[in-house]
Amino acid sequence: MDIQSHATLSPLATVREAIARSEKIAGRPAGSTTLIAISKTKPADAIEALIGEGQMVFGENRVQEAALKFPDLRARYPQLQLHMVGQLQSNKADEAVALFDCIHSLDRMSLAKALASAMDKAGKRVPCFVQVNIGEEEQKGGCAIADLPQFLADVRAMGLPVIGLMAVPPANVEPSPYFALLAKLVRDHGLDQLSMGMSGDYETAVRIGATHVRIGSALFGAR
Ligand SMILES: *Cc1c(COP(=O)(O)O)cnc(C)c1O
Repeated sequence: MDIQSHATLSPLATVREAIARSEKIAGRPAGSTTLIAISKTKPADAIEALIGEGQMVFGENRVQEAALKFPDLRARYPQLQLHMVGQLQSNKADEAVALFDCIHSLDRMSLAKALASAMDKAGKRVPCFVQVNIGEEEQKGGCAIADLPQFLADVRAMGLPVIGLMAVPPANVEPSPYFALLAKLVRDHGLDQLSMGMSGDYETAVRIGATHVRIGSALFGAR
């Protein structure tokens, strides 16, 4: 690609191209990574601008904010998909099940119980990623690595649709060892979906096997 046409690429096109390049480098099929545009704090018109470029998968980190922005957008764009990527309180489980197509932050038994009961009530199965505290950081959400085998067994026994693992590596350190560890945990537990990689590190994540990257500022600008 020549420099001039590169200069005219939109942020979305630039990210798509970088994902495609990383898939190719890793020997992965083109299109095997789902780009989730994280629209937290961004207004509906910024979201619609991306929809205009064909982006249909979005993510939010707060139930309340998603409930304000997305019902109207969904009415106009029925093919939209909405992912929950933030910490979820158990008392918001009903609302989350109603609003979201996928939940990336299942990390404790109380939430698993609330989600299972919300899904039963709604008659809707919402695929979930189990979030892992991959850097063993005290302040971060996520199931402890040591607790993961038991937690997965428990949530599977409850019938929750667990499709993969999600993590946010520690800030300001090389993320690839954490991505590789998450990929190994996914394989070890017979899962196949990997939610990892944000604006600063998604190319690395795709090379290590991310099936879902969660990208905000590289698409929408700084928050
Ligand atoms: C905000 C957020 C992102 C996107 O972060 P950027 O650095 O803006 O790409 C991804 N994952 C989670 C869980 C987030 O909260």
